[in-house]
Amino acid sequence: MHTDARVLNNQSLIEGDICIIGAGAAGISIALDWMNTSKKVILLEGGGFEYDDKVQDLYKGKTTGQKYFPLKASRLHYFGGTTGHWAGMCSPFDEVDFRKREWVPGSGWPISKKDLDPYYAKANETLKLGPYNYEFDYWRKELKDLNPFPLDDKVIRNKMWQYSQAHFGDLYKEAIVEAKNIHLYTYANVVDILAGEGVQHISSVIVKNHEGKTHTVKAKHFILACGAIQNARMLLASNSQAPRGLGNDHDLVGRYFMEHLEIASSELWLFRPFPTNLYSWEYGVTRASAELAITEEIQEKERILNGTASLLPLSVGKHQKPRMETWQDEDPRKSSESLFKNWSEADEAAKSEKGAIERAFQLNTRIEQAPNPNSRVTLMAEKDELGVPRVNLHWELTALDKRSVRRIHQLIGQQFGIAGLGRVKLMDFLRDEDDDTFPDSTNGGWHHMGTTRMSDDPGKGVVNADCRVHGISNLFVAGSACYTTSAAPNPTLTLVALSLRLSDHIKRII
Ligand SMILES: Cc1cc2nc3c(=O)[nH]c(=O)nc-3n(C[C@H](O)[C@H](O)[C@H](O)COP(=O)(O)OP(=O)(O)OC[C@H]3O[C@@H](n4cnc5c(N)ncnc54)[C@H](O)[C@@H]3O)c2cc1C
Repeated sequence: MHTDARVLNNQSLIEGDICIIGAGAAGISIALDWMNTSKKVILLEGGGFEYDDKVQDLYKGKTTGQKYFPLKASRLHYFGGTTGHWAGMCSPFDEVDFRKREWVPGSGWPISKKDLDPYYAKANETLKLGPYNYEFDYWRKELKDLNPFPLDDKVIRNKMWQYSQAHFGDLYKEAIVEAKNIHLYTYANVVDILAGEGVQHISSVIVKNHEGKTHTVKAKHFILACGAIQNARMLLASNSQAPRGLGNDHDLVGRYFMEHLEIASSELWLFRPFPTNLYSWEYGVTRASAELAITEEIQEKERILNGTASLLPLSVGKHQKPRMETWQDEDPRKSSESLFKNWSEADEAAKSEKGAIERAFQLNTRIEQAPNPNSRVTLMAEKDELGVPRVNLHWELTALDKRSVRRIHQLIGQQFGIAGLGRVKLMDFLRDEDDDTFPDSTNGGWHHMGTTRMSDDPGKGVVNADCRVHGISNLFVAGSACYTTSAAPNPTLTLVALSLRLSDHIKRII
């Protein structure tokens, strides 16, 4: 069922069993999991079914520290959320990503990969991917012409990816609107979360829209699924009963913001042509492809973060501008246009430059960011049109991030040399081993993670292993905000899996 909250009488009371706040990848995955049950699910979405600049403007904020995308343009604020224009690249985290690694401060989830495996399988279905199998040997049998570089597999492995075309808004609108027990309210922006006495449980949330209407929503359980920056913002801004914000007794909400560092880092020059189908992908065509990853044993030996390198023909790469440059318009549609314009210009420029260059590739890093408490989301004094304080995102990287990027490319270079395949040349920003800084051209992947990190210890994390906010019995967080560490792969497959695990947990306790 669907109701536009702008047409309700002012001060309406909405009641249900479960209230999900945010209809993006996380929120919709959970709502679908409750379809056709006896429980009444309220799904609150701040936007409508289409882009609306007034609603999008609620995301506006400031950034400090490492150069970042404008906050207004780094997420989509309507039904379906940011999957409205995501690229669909999916790969699960590795087992090592969940472990405590003594060389990575703040690492160690309270759950393991095994705990997520059944949900990863289900998430693959939600995202309309192929089978939950990311082993190279499986895909080698399944697809033709996958030739791995003959490199030492004790050092370098092929990390497999699958590609989703699931835009949740288009794909799941009908199912959600038709479901009798799912009550979707659009133009229902949550602006406050109210707790009962002692701040141990949530009694209601307050919803507002630009028509000047305010409604109250009551439920047994509340799930925040607004994306990692907005989840932290909502907890911090809901401070009428807990002055530091909900779940923030230990000043952790908003801290440990993480992104994936996606940065052109080296050039690979092969001695002879090599078929690289395995390492390339085309949107809507490729079912699976690989990136070069460093094995767990070598990560431990070298004391580096988990990361991969992808291949892009150098003839194309050298004409592509950094995304941090092309994606700077506050309007996400204009930023997206500017990025694709640059990419197609780069393709055109490359077509006129054939020859020996075909044996040359740009190696692009994709790496986890080390957890860093100073990399954080805080509230500003300035408020949005609905009266909620806007956020400042301070993105801060560390020496471990820089050393890891450099070392990954040095290791890849050594292995190509040993195998007699070619040479790797580091880009200028990696040459000086004493320089821990990152250039302004360093891209994030528009991946927001870690602002309500998971830990069994309330002194070290905001949510517990069930994604419940410590100290509050019925408030949960869904999505990549809960990540303790961010691993190398893009976040959506894992955040859908984690949301489905949370959904199962609520089924057990309701
Ligand atoms: C250009 C681009 C490319 C990307 N490519 C990839 C990729 O290839 N692979 C990958 O894994 N990830 C990718 N991502 C990231 C991916 O889009 C996100 O990981 C994913 O959408 C996060 O899902 P979510 O549900 O947590 O948040 P969102 O999708 O952002 O959804 C949050 C929802 O909450 C709603 N909301 C927010 N605040 C409120 C409020 N106060 N009240 C009510 N509702 C609210 C929003 O309107 C929205 O619908 C990409 C992102 C971008 C921008």
